[in-house]
Amino acid sequence: MLQQSKIVLKGMMQQELQGWCKSVGETSFRGIQLFEWMYKKGVSDPNLMLNISHKFRGFLKENSILSTLKLELKTESQLEQTTKYLFKLADNQFIETVSMVMENRHTVCISSQIGCSIDCDFCATGKMGFNRNLSVGEIVDQLIYVRNNIANPITNIVYMGMGEPFLNYERVIKSAEIFHNPLGFNLGRHRITISTAGILPKIKQFINEEQKFKLAISLNASNNITRDKIMPINKKWNIQKIIKEVKQFSLLNRRRIMFEYVLMKEINDSPENAIELAELLSGINCKLNIIPYNESVGIYKRPDEKSLNRFLKILHERQNGYRILVRWSKGQDIAAGCGQLVYKEKIAN
Ligand code: SF4
Repeated sequence: MLQQSKIVLKGMMQQELQGWCKSVGETSFRGIQLFEWMYKKGVSDPNLMLNISHKFRGFLKENSILSTLKLELKTESQLEQTTKYLFKLADNQFIETVSMVMENRHTVCISSQIGCSIDCDFCATGKMGFNRNLSVGEIVDQLIYVRNNIANPITNIVYMGMGEPFLNYERVIKSAEIFHNPLGFNLGRHRITISTAGILPKIKQFINEEQKFKLAISLNASNNITRDKIMPINKKWNIQKIIKEVKQFSLLNRRRIMFEYVLMKEINDSPENAIELAELLSGINCKLNIIPYNESVGIYKRPDEKSLNRFLKILHERQNGYRILVRWSKGQDIAAGCGQLVYKEKIAN
């Protein structure tokens, strides 16, 4: 499957494609056409690119790679309209992507790395270890595949699959640009959410660059003692450092950041935790997503309904600036929920 002499066009931006077309003796307009065929129309067979000359189609077939992944396995949930895709990449590595359809909303959760180095203790992907970053093409192709296979138009993209997106920052941003581009997927910037476990320098970069996409931060604990245990990255960039950065951002830009809090039984679901969390977020213009844990690895369990309601009640009573939502992950029967994505054979080894 590896074809090293060929150039990988999938993942190139419009200008890069235009430059490449010129370098092989074509007009730069061909680059715009290629961009549209690949991203807007989701076509990866040059023979189907009908407004391109026969000769250049042949050249593309001989010399370029327009598709970076192949479907290995598709699993559909029996509980809801959720589908998990296992893709095989050119170097025989695997990644997972999840499509979730609910009424008019079709959200696709995409991966940005193979495995993950952040090693959050409650996350199945973290247990795989880190393998490599995905290319822009491999990120974009996940969405192209889903769009070509599910009739419901994609309304939202979340970078919450395998990997820490901010450790593959440039490629993630580039892929988001392709999703946003009118000649690409034409998705509004508010429909694209990039999530991070809290890579502070990259959060700063994202803010300084005034990136247009939505930012989500996985907080998952209300104090550093707990967060150190479940998210070792906290020892480097702790809760206060992250909150300080976000506070400044929300004051200056009036843009709403999202915090995610995976609620785990007897880990971070006590009334004291709820009070601490309310104090941390007090006065910040943000959205707080409470995600009851999807049981997958280790000692972690989902809290019962009583604990969940008690936690929410305290947050509501002390609500100041933040908006609270409870997000139940989809596709738990197929291990497609948050923190459950993993290539099983890898974990078994
Ligand atoms: S929760 Fe996200 S950042 Fe943490 S180990 Fe899993 S994939 Fe990596």
